[in-house]
Amino acid sequence: MNKKELEKIKQKALEEHIPIIMDDTLEVIEKELKENPPKRILEIGAAVGYSAMCFSEFLAEGGCIDTIERDEERIKQAKINFKNVEVTEKINLYEGDAVEILPTLNEKYDMVFIDAAKGKYPFFLKEALRMISDNGIIFADNILYKGYVMSDYNKHKQRTAVRNLREYIKEVSENPNLETEILEVGDGLAISRITKSKC
Ligand code: SAH
Ligand code: MG
Repeated sequence: MNKKELEKIKQKALEEHIPIIMDDTLEVIEKELKENPPKRILEIGAAVGYSAMCFSEFLAEGGCIDTIERDEERIKQAKINFKNVEVTEKINLYEGDAVEILPTLNEKYDMVFIDAAKGKYPFFLKEALRMISDNGIIFADNILYKGYVMSDYNKHKQRTAVRNLREYIKEVSENPNLETEILEVGDGLAISRITKSKC
């Protein structure tokens, strides 16, 4: 992978206010991936492909990433970026709404990264749980949404998003097959490990 090119893409994304993964959040996820290199990753919300390109460094031999994006401009840019960074054979970009695309997928994923419309997190979780492998891990970015999620502030115009992020936290916390931590890195990161045994 062309690291110099990746750094340029990161700077450009930041200048254009594209909400790419924050450094401290990335650090937590990369540490996890380093310990357990995944064969397949599913990402929901590619933007210009920055996080997917970062994750691609930690794939197991022959591994790959499926990522989904609906914004046409970002799709165009992501395709250019994947080419320039030389990761096209490791990253597969689905173009369209994840709400429509996810139900058509039937792979097993060792890692799922949820990073798209906050109002859809409970739906993304349901789809992630359907496809996660037995020792898999599910990350959800922006889970604390600027602190709104943990405060009693609910008159904000983003209240649908806040309600759905709270719903996500409730579901992962109550699910007996998951072990969940909520970290205050970046904009909040939920980490859910699958603990379900095979028998
Ligand atoms: N993971 C990226 C950042 C993603 S930003 C990174 O860290 O580099 C969130 C992206 O999700 C936006 O580009 C937005 O267009 C996309 N998105 C939001 N809702 C979506 C949906 N329902 N289907 C597909 N993409 C979606
Ligand atoms: Mg994010």
